[in-house]
Amino acid sequence: QDGVSSPTPGGNVKVVVRVRGFLPREIERGSECLIAMDPHTQATTLRAPRTDDIDSGRPRLQSRGKILEDKTFTFDRSFWSYDETDESYADQEDVYNSLGEEFLDHNFEGYHTCIFAYGQTGAGKSYTMMGTAERPGLIPRTCEDLFQRIEEAQCPDITYNVRVSYFEVYNEHVRDLLAPRTDPPYYLKIRESPTDGPYVKDLTDVPVKSFAEIMRYMRKGDMSRTIASTKMNDTSSRSHAVFTIMLKQIHHDFSTDETTERTARIRLVDLAGSERAKSTEATGQRLREGSNINKSLTTLGRVIAALADPRQSRSGIRRNKDVVPYRDSILTWLLKDSLGGNSKTAMIACISPSDYEETLSTLRYADQAK
Ligand code: ADP
Repeated sequence: QDGVSSPTPGGNVKVVVRVRGFLPREIERGSECLIAMDPHTQATTLRAPRTDDIDSGRPRLQSRGKILEDKTFTFDRSFWSYDETDESYADQEDVYNSLGEEFLDHNFEGYHTCIFAYGQTGAGKSYTMMGTAERPGLIPRTCEDLFQRIEEAQCPDITYNVRVSYFEVYNEHVRDLLAPRTDPPYYLKIRESPTDGPYVKDLTDVPVKSFAEIMRYMRKGDMSRTIASTKMNDTSSRSHAVFTIMLKQIHHDFSTDETTERTARIRLVDLAGSERAKSTEATGQRLREGSNINKSLTTLGRVIAALADPRQSRSGIRRNKDVVPYRDSILTWLLKDSLGGNSKTAMIACISPSDYEETLSTLRYADQAK
């Protein structure tokens, strides 16, 4: 399974990896870059950190009695966002052009899509999804492109209808990020409709007419998430944030006076930090959170793996659609309509350049999702 893994075998799931550059504290520490990416093969190699003790004869650092090894993985794309002066540096626009744009094409064709950012806290998930004011990420770029396409469409027989919602899943509870905050937080209930499947009851879901308007809701939701996280000691790294755009295209056939509708749901998800999933020293609330994050992330991994390869699991046992374990976590249950069936999924594995253990765990997770 390790060694050199093969790229994704096509289908509805895309897996990419992005490495960020050093943060000031890592430079101060004299951190070493452990990642290499080959732009031709898209292979990502994680190098084992070198030991300071060269004379000891031990070539690599040891962890729990095991010698660390170099590992190579191959995904659909590897984004080298390590050093801006490099020719191969992938900036926010490159990531959008290579992934976001294609997914928006799918949406206009009527597919649901879902893009996840996975990785440890600090690896670049928010930067990739949200970005900064100067360097906007996938969410603002998708919104901008969406409204630009609508404005340019000039097709008298198609009417576009866009709605937005924004919620977070924290500890297997759903909180509306567009509703006024309450203390204690108000959690929404999940219901299941016979026609549309699972949904969040009473979730704020607003119509939007322009890029500026949808940006206002995005910022409002982010603000709500940030304020809550400062108060509750950094919950944002412990919650999954789900930004959803509903694109409805209403086609009028003037000759018959009939209308047909095509709806696509665009899900853009900033997942909880993956390191939370396996904290061993946690007790009480933290433990519950940890195991819930673990449950969502492992279930998501299993769901995506089942979708990427619906006929066979890694162990060679036949699977069928019925055993995709959507119900095992709130996150996958709520995203059921956007995973599998008439939908396209992408996972962006975000990694930091100098953390061997966490990066290996992220790359393995992404690898089993292919
Ligand atoms: P996460 O959401 O995974 O916890 P962040 O997105 O907050 O991580 O990233 C941590 C820090 O690294 C932030 O200061 C962010 O601006 C910076 N960063 C992350 N990815 C990149 C990148 N590709 N290029 C430049 N800076 C980045």
